Amino acid sequence: MRKNEPIRMCIACRERDLQQKLIRLQQDINQVFPYTGKGRSFYLCAACGENKKKIKGLIKRFRLSANDGERFVKYLKELDKNG
Ligand SMILES: [Zn+2]
Repeated sequence: MRKNEPIRMCIACRERDLQQKLIRLQQDINQVFPYTGKGRSFYLCAACGENKKKIKGLIKRFRLSANDGERFVKYLKELDKNG
């Protein structure tokens, strides 16, 4: 691991990894969506992005409505598909 590569922490499992390996998401008022380049962002590792239990926990933590929670899950699935 090179020294100057940015390391970020997954908010679900608190594991640290290279920023480029993590999924960058953004949280706004009761919404979670892929990072748009502005605002508050956080990181999720690929393993947690596929972990239904962890995702459920995040939906609770962000107080997402059922609809917003579903959208969040859909984003993660799409990210997974796109590699
Ligand atoms: Zn994780």
